[in-house]
Amino acid sequence: MIAKHSIDQVLETAQVEEVVSHFVNLKRRGVNMIGLCPFHNEKTPSFTVSPAKNLFKCFGCGKGGNAVHFVMEHEGYSFPEAIRFLAKMYNITLDETVADPSESEDKQKKDSLFIVTEFAKNHFVHNLFHTQAGVNIGMSYFRERGFRENTIKEFSLGFAPDDPTDLTEIALRNQYKKEFLVELGLCNENGRDFFRNRVIFPIQNLSGKTIGFGGRILGNDKKIAKYINSPESEIYNKRKTLYGLYFAKNDIRKEDSCILVEGYTDVISLHQAGIKNVVASSGTSLTDDQIRLIKRYTQNVTVIYDGDAAGIHAAQRGTDLILAMDMFVKVVILPEQHDPDSFIKKEGPNAFRTYLRDKAQDFILFKSYFLKKEINQDPVRKVAVLKDIVQTLSKIPDPMARNTYVKESSNIMDIDEAILINEVNKVIKNEIRQKRFRESLRDGEPVAQEGNFDMPDSQPVHEQSDFTNKADESMERGLISLLINFGNTLYDEKSQITVAQIVVSGCAELLGYFTNQVYASIFREVIHKTSAGEVTDQKYFTNHPDEPIRQLAIDLLNSPYVYAGWQNKGMELQTQRMPDQNFKNEADQLIIRINNRKLTMMIEENMKKLDKLDPEDPEYLISLKLHAKMIEQKKELANLIDKVIG
Ligand SMILES: [Zn+2]
Repeated sequence: MIAKHSIDQVLETAQVEEVVSHFVNLKRRGVNMIGLCPFHNEKTPSFTVSPAKNLFKCFGCGKGGNAVHFVMEHEGYSFPEAIRFLAKMYNITLDETVADPSESEDKQKKDSLFIVTEFAKNHFVHNLFHTQAGVNIGMSYFRERGFRENTIKEFSLGFAPDDPTDLTEIALRNQYKKEFLVELGLCNENGRDFFRNRVIFPIQNLSGKTIGFGGRILGNDKKIAKYINSPESEIYNKRKTLYGLYFAKNDIRKEDSCILVEGYTDVISLHQAGIKNVVASSGTSLTDDQIRLIKRYTQNVTVIYDGDAAGIHAAQRGTDLILAMDMFVKVVILPEQHDPDSFIKKEGPNAFRTYLRDKAQDFILFKSYFLKKEINQDPVRKVAVLKDIVQTLSKIPDPMARNTYVKESSNIMDIDEAILINEVNKVIKNEIRQKRFRESLRDGEPVAQEGNFDMPDSQPVHEQSDFTNKADESMERGLISLLINFGNTLYDEKSQITVAQIVVSGCAELLGYFTNQVYASIFREVIHKTSAGEVTDQKYFTNHPDEPIRQLAIDLLNSPYVYAGWQNKGMELQTQRMPDQNFKNEADQLIIRINNRKLTMMIEENMKKLDKLDPEDPEYLISLKLHAKMIEQKKELANLIDKVIG
């Protein structure tokens, strides 16, 4: 683990404009620098670097952050990897400490496992090139597939002979521990090899280290599985691994597109043919984590399906997942009897490229046509089919895009648009409700009331979010903006109290009433940190590990400070720019207004209770007294609001 003071040193030293200039051509414009965004395709620069704030922000695709985030995003590094990269760039010696002994053990063990997989990989490669069986059986198989020698070497393909102890014996002779071989699934307790008489495909992690193996049987014995894979281990998590990503990541970024295929040989064939932005989710159906891996490099995915219908059905589940992550999905169906490997072998790379370009179709439209065909063949299935397309449509996070697709799908499938909208909204609402419920369980807070569906990321189609919710959210946004911009500023010189402290003492109990979950989680953190006497300054948020929080902070710091005020008459929404010095007034206003809103909600709740209670019930009197008291308080607050605004 890298020591915190080392991380801080890197964060303080790394100048975002210096780091970015290594990758992007920047020109000065006023106080900022601009260039063409490396994360999306653009012809006019909207990628802005602010040396003063030490942040970058693209106004085209919305990506933003500090030097570390830039390196993470651009190079696909994890946080520690990015810190190490920058430390090297700035000649900073990192203090990499070990937090606790168990962690060091953990790391040592992982290192040992990597050493064993490296040994096994080299042994399989040696077999392929330098043993008789390897050359005669393994190599001739690869040659038959059309793999060239440099491809075989690049992917470290290997061979395991039909010998029950070939690997285990030599590994033990070289002092590798049997327990590691067993854990990696390379042999069993009795010391017998797992991979036998198979060609071997090593599986790499993002930095190119071998973490597991796939083995393909040679010959046509139907009783034996064609492919077997290493079991999961401490270094191999199948759900988080995509075969070929290590070789493909740079090309995926360059092409801004990722091709998804099914097997090892598809990846290798395409790669050899010069189509290198290709990965496979071998061994599992596509998972969230795998999609997130792709999203580090591109938002565009082209899924290639084999010509047979079974493949079409199988791949669709994964495709819905890709849509849910706000990525663009295209589909290419290969001619019957073909997989990418066979197609490219028969027709050649150029024909394949042309085919991809001409036949790629939008996934949702493809699915609509496909389902339409199903209904025509079997009208009884109409309900099930409708459900299927509704599920897919509801996964599209962007409301505008979703609207468009709902329209097109209803045209293609000949379903009334209103019905489709209604069904899609039902699914979305239900998912939001469940999400909130899960969140409330996690945070131990009350579930937001029914009807508040205006989550910023998924508004139901065509549904106008109600006015109060919008007002609530912009009030919450105002509070968060205040905390991020001025939280650490002194509210009062004499008592040395910060704005964050004032807000927390005035509003902490209102956390449960927040409607926007990102705002709520920021406020929750400020409360915890402030109560613990810690500081949450601008850097705290712009360096935040949680992506939505970080993005919001960067947005709030980059946009001119705008606050939402309310005129007394009819709560008209009014925004105006505020000079930086005015935060004190803004803090007062927000505290009063948010308290006022909470009081209003409490009064409403109490009135509902009164409605239901029998006047004879002793509870009734208590509620009535409470009502009078709250009305009194509300009047006082109203006076204060007048004063503050005045
Ligand atoms: Zn961009």
